[in-house]
Amino acid sequence: MKMAAGNWKMNKTPNEAVEFIQNLKDKVKDAETEVVVAVPYVAIPAVVETCKGTNIKVGAQNVHWEDSGAYTGEVSCSMLKELGVQYVIIGHSERREYFAETDETVNKKAHAILNAGMTPIICCGESLTQREQGVTKEHIRYQIKIALLGLTKEQVSKLVIAYEPIWAIGTGKTATAQQAEEACYVIRELVKELYDEETAESVRILYGGSVKASNAKELFDMPNIDGGLIGGASLKLDEYVAIVNYNK
Ligand code: 13P
Repeated sequence: MKMAAGNWKMNKTPNEAVEFIQNLKDKVKDAETEVVVAVPYVAIPAVVETCKGTNIKVGAQNVHWEDSGAYTGEVSCSMLKELGVQYVIIGHSERREYFAETDETVNKKAHAILNAGMTPIICCGESLTQREQGVTKEHIRYQIKIALLGLTKEQVSKLVIAYEPIWAIGTGKTATAQQAEEACYVIRELVKELYDEETAESVRILYGGSVKASNAKELFDMPNIDGGLIGGASLKLDEYVAIVNYNK
């Protein structure tokens, strides 16, 4: 099943979030796509409540790798798990750029999320300079190799990995379906190399970066693309519904 995961980033208050989900739920109830909304921390309790009895799953956009302690401002996996969170985005390029997230912390977070019984959505992707220098493949292989360090085959087979070229995020500039497919193929081949073919087939690989209703089908129909991580378009009801129902 393909996945349409919305990354709301720092958008919508708890009340706005609930209103959006109330309008969304009926429109996606027959979706053949897995629907995930990664909402701001403070909206999680209300959104989980509103999603009860629906096919919408709730995600967070970050987490700390320690379970508790003196980490002012941080949130742990057990806190998210208790609220009913199922997915956690880690390693987003915005967190790498503005909040010093590194491949090493992404790896620690991946372990913590899996140990808590949730699913990480691990982001990777190259900058425009890296693409122009021809090091896209090496860069995403490096990022994912470190992110997966120490994870078992069973853990990796449950993972979601999102390929998000930085130059395509929020720019309206989408990678072509071919470019996105090539990068997702590189990731799947790496998982095969590090684990085995079965694991590579079960890991889900998403594309993110200016996904919209008009390009979702072309992207999601690619053999190595298992869906999308959607920013701006996931905040607009009709646009997001059209992406979720891309195959109808
Ligand atoms: P946009 O869809 O707004 O380009 O954002 C993509 C993204 O960063 C999703 O995580």
